[in-house]
Amino acid sequence: SNNKKIAVITGGNRGLGLEVSRELAKQGYQVILTSRNQEKGNAAATKLTDEELDVIYHPLDITSDESAHKLAEFLNKEFGKVDALVNNAGIYIDSEASGNNLSIFNTKIDTIQQTIETNVYGALRVTQALLPLMKNQNYGRIVNVSSGMGQLSSMGGGSPAYRISKTALNAVTRIFASELQGTNILVNSVCPGWVKTDMGGVNAPRTLEQGADTIVWLATLPDHSPTGGFFRDRQRIDW
Ligand code: NDP
Repeated sequence: SNNKKIAVITGGNRGLGLEVSRELAKQGYQVILTSRNQEKGNAAATKLTDEELDVIYHPLDITSDESAHKLAEFLNKEFGKVDALVNNAGIYIDSEASGNNLSIFNTKIDTIQQTIETNVYGALRVTQALLPLMKNQNYGRIVNVSSGMGQLSSMGGGSPAYRISKTALNAVTRIFASELQGTNILVNSVCPGWVKTDMGGVNAPRTLEQGADTIVWLATLPDHSPTGGFFRDRQRIDW
């Protein structure tokens, strides 16, 4: 497994993160499935190794600098590189924090701060920590799992913390892509669509497989592919 491509997925213990881990492993990647909860992470990785897939678990709480640096150290020692990073972990706490009232006018700033801490700084922190392991080989695919709720071109009301966080995550994608222009490290945002997960709920029309498709596609883009884009169903969408 020495010359395998290395893929790191955040929030890999359930939902889209678990499915993306499965799909990338099926495509021959050595997957490092990360999760903030050790028990859940180990259980998820075991599920995939039982499917004969090359998956290992490593702890990662994306809100912790120490946790991100420990992961980077482990990856450096074990593999010396990272080929794909899927910033998938995210939270949606607008409704639990404010009951049924999702208006921006009475959303607590603390709810917005917490959401940004995870959905924006989390992805930024992990990318900062792992980028040297892409730069050292001039190869990398970074996928930021965003949402149509972060689209300024069709911004609606409600869920303000989540909307603001995903819009800011898209800005992070653009800035990374600009600074990495001319390298073979490609950074893109993706909206998976509305997917049946704990977050998406049971009424969501999309399966995990459908939701994971464009994420996996962006994580495995060939050289000279787009960077700094926003995609759904393998097509560009508006910011
Ligand atoms: P889930 O709620 O099912 O899973 C979220 C994952 O993120 C869990 O593994 C969770 O871990 C992890 N996570 C949360 N906070 C942290 C943290 N601080 N450190 C590490 N992991 C963390 O969500 P989905 O699978 O539905 O969503 C995945 C991504 O897709 C998210 O970014 C979401 O915003 C986005 N998305 C989802 C849509 C949908 O319809 N489902 C639509 C559009 C975008 P734990 O189990 O420990 O809580």
